[in-house]
Amino acid sequence: MIDSEVIVLGGGIVGASAALMLAQKGRRVVLVERDFCGSHSSGVNYGGVRRQGRPLHQLPLSQRSHELWSDLPGLIGIDGEYVRSGHLKLARSHDDLAALQAYADATRGFGLGLQMLDHAQLRARFPWVGDVAVGASLCPEDGHANPRLVSPAFARAAQRHGARVMEQTEVTHLEHDGQRFQLRCANGLQLQAPWLLNCAGAWAGTVAAQFGEPVPMTSAHPAMLVTEPLPVVMDVSTGVEGGGIYARQVARGNCILGGGRGFALGPQQARPGQAAVLEILRNAGELYPFLKGAQAIRTWSGTEGYLPDHEPVIGDSSTQPGLLHGFGFAGAGFQLGPAVGEALAEIVCTGASRQPIEAFSIRRFQV
Ligand SMILES: Cc1cc2nc3c(=O)[nH]c(=O)nc-3n(C[C@H](O)[C@H](O)[C@H](O)COP(=O)(O)OP(=O)(O)OC[C@H]3O[C@@H](n4cnc5c(N)ncnc54)[C@H](O)[C@@H]3O)c2cc1C
Repeated sequence: MIDSEVIVLGGGIVGASAALMLAQKGRRVVLVERDFCGSHSSGVNYGGVRRQGRPLHQLPLSQRSHELWSDLPGLIGIDGEYVRSGHLKLARSHDDLAALQAYADATRGFGLGLQMLDHAQLRARFPWVGDVAVGASLCPEDGHANPRLVSPAFARAAQRHGARVMEQTEVTHLEHDGQRFQLRCANGLQLQAPWLLNCAGAWAGTVAAQFGEPVPMTSAHPAMLVTEPLPVVMDVSTGVEGGGIYARQVARGNCILGGGRGFALGPQQARPGQAAVLEILRNAGELYPFLKGAQAIRTWSGTEGYLPDHEPVIGDSSTQPGLLHGFGFAGAGFQLGPAVGEALAEIVCTGASRQPIEAFSIRRFQV
């Protein structure tokens, strides 16, 4: 039996960040992970660390995360291949360019510093972009990082600060006895604490339902591929208005591309699927002509939780005091993770998050 102040269920970037922030504040915290920390979405994602394109009410949290990312070595002890390369969002039509302009207007004052580029400016600055793009919006301080390095490092940093990190420990039973949460794990471990943070990613809905607040969460599986190393030409991470494809190139020359949806092999495993991979390659040929003929050397996917409004659930439970949620990031939680962890830690320590999170309340699903 491990007795602590806070149990964090789920060792993705959200749970590991929360554990780190709590341990830094001197709280006795246990992080429980079924597999290995960062082995699901948090470790297999595309690696986009971007604010551009987020809904307006996510921007304060995203901006706070941007600050936390700025000193990644100070926070987790490694640079995680994080670079502020810029994030270039391409428009394939004049309507899409108008949508990018409207977003730039609406987000003025949030600190994104978006720069609109017309066709000539785009060609002059990023000559490797295909002619199919009519313009773009550049967020100069957005960037990308290596999720396989970054996410497990959050858990290791939490451990260095005193958190107990229990991997290969699946929580199979949980209840509240009126005073504390009582958890049992498949390996026989028992845990108890007055606080429980539900950071179980695509599987977090089970925990919420158990405490009488079910959410309409579904799982989906973004498709990803990486090419052989190529001469380095892409100096920004890219996306496209309307979606469909995103791409970045790492220092070694490999290009990482994502787009479309794969499929579930089982509750915890996913594959990208042939159709999504072919669609990525078709889009890539148009938008990034230098990739024509490049070899894709690996494809993969992951399991991510989506709520109908594509917004996360962050904050306190509507039914169980001491229970906090942080899940359902709809393919965009890697950048937000550190600030979400901080917000959850602040609720435990001070009763409230410094960043506005009301829009993400689980109460929005209650009729
Ligand atoms: C392919 C892909 C590409 C993406 N690209 C981007 C991107 O470019 N930028 C971006 O910002 N976001 C991106 N995302 C989204 C981002 O990866 C996620 O939003 C984020 O990692 C979610 O973190 P998490 O900690 O909530 O969940 P997870 O990383 O899924 O962690 C949850 C953990 O809970 C554990 N768990 C669940 N149930 C139990 C249990 N009963 N007992 C113990 N442990 C349990 C799981 O094993 C898991 O490790 C992408 C996602 C995918 C899948």
